[in-house]
Amino acid sequence: MATNFTREEAKMMDQQDILRSFRNEFYLKNDGVYMDGNSLGLLSKRAEETTHELLNSWKQYAIDGWTEGEQPWYYLSEKLGESMTELVGGKKEEVIATGSTTVNLHHLVSTFYKPEGKRTKILADSLNFPSDIYALKAQLALKGYDDTHLIQVPSTNGHVLDEEDIINAMTDEVALIVLPGVLYRSGQILDMEKLTKAAHERGIQIGFDLCHSIGSVPHQLHDWGTDFAFWCTYKHLNGGPGSVGGLFVHEKHAGITPGLAGWFSSRKDKQFDMEHSLTPAEDAGAFQIGTPHVLSAAPLIGALELFNEAGIDRVREKSLKLTNYMMELIKHELDEFDLKICNPVDPKQRGGHVYLEHPEAARICKALKMKKVIPDFRTPSGIRLAPVALYNTFEDVYECVHILKEIMREELYKQFENKREIVS
Ligand SMILES: *Cc1c(COP(=O)(O)O)cnc(C)c1O
Repeated sequence: MATNFTREEAKMMDQQDILRSFRNEFYLKNDGVYMDGNSLGLLSKRAEETTHELLNSWKQYAIDGWTEGEQPWYYLSEKLGESMTELVGGKKEEVIATGSTTVNLHHLVSTFYKPEGKRTKILADSLNFPSDIYALKAQLALKGYDDTHLIQVPSTNGHVLDEEDIINAMTDEVALIVLPGVLYRSGQILDMEKLTKAAHERGIQIGFDLCHSIGSVPHQLHDWGTDFAFWCTYKHLNGGPGSVGGLFVHEKHAGITPGLAGWFSSRKDKQFDMEHSLTPAEDAGAFQIGTPHVLSAAPLIGALELFNEAGIDRVREKSLKLTNYMMELIKHELDEFDLKICNPVDPKQRGGHVYLEHPEAARICKALKMKKVIPDFRTPSGIRLAPVALYNTFEDVYECVHILKEIMREELYKQFENKREIVS
């Protein structure tokens, strides 16, 4: 795509970008280049407005805010669920905004994991984010099993997984499968449709963690028949630190008893009957537990409006161009340095970020920050760079790679310790 690797060429690509106006919706760091939108997305003016709106509804309505005002709190989780349906390819009854990634994972496993006879194990992978693995082990322990009941499919090269290896591990001892949609380090997209089909052919239920795939790649969870999914909203979706998460439960499971029931699991018309026997909602709403975190859901209202205006297919198209351009530039400008591109290159497998490895990665990241480029370091030697479709430009990518080049050529990283920060 790039031909002469000049800044002018990058600017030209920005001019041709149909999503370019969305950048103005965000608060960008004045003179820096933000490449960390896959860890914490930026604040948009829209999200700021809806946060103020909800604070005001508290001020204005007090207790009546549950049912009055522009965004009655009692229905907000359902409404936000509906605004995420396009992102995951679900029906409105299948999606709810609630909880957080790890809590939702606990909830869904406590519902769908039903060890029986020979089928007692949970199948996962060896590259997933630690929180998911901790939760799965804890769920096994609650059922009286030790860690040997967690099968973790190994990676072939430490970066990616082979779907065939996963399918081969779907034995008749497996009761449930939980996998990431996009791997948090290498950004590999797993073929969720194929894995769902293979799991179902073997009588196993399957769910996906969409933390890194929601807002970066399209999904068709309903059509794929995926049993469940869960995600956070503070990465690509720009919901803000600790914003309320989301989950999907396929409509074929409507009416299933939620594992971690609470009064917000109720059918909405029954909830205030205050009975001691729960009548669960017949949709994904049943997977709420208690009172929704309204103020942590507030920015999501505005953040999701932007996504729905841009459309996930257009976001994906631009994201692929950005990551492709970044890889081309890296190859062109940084060939002499020992920076290895470790994300899958094939667009079918490439998620929303570029993943590099270098033995000095920790201090290269510190040098990038000194130069006002915000990357994200993953121990021991990973650098993630996420050019985000809604607010990053091709010129940002150009700038980022040229600063990285300066850091490598001048060895500017040597002034720092090669050690991670407390939060990285
Ligand atoms: C970001 C992320 C999490 C974080 O979980 P929280 O409960 O939101 O803290 C979990 N799993 C994966 C795969 C992630 O990428």
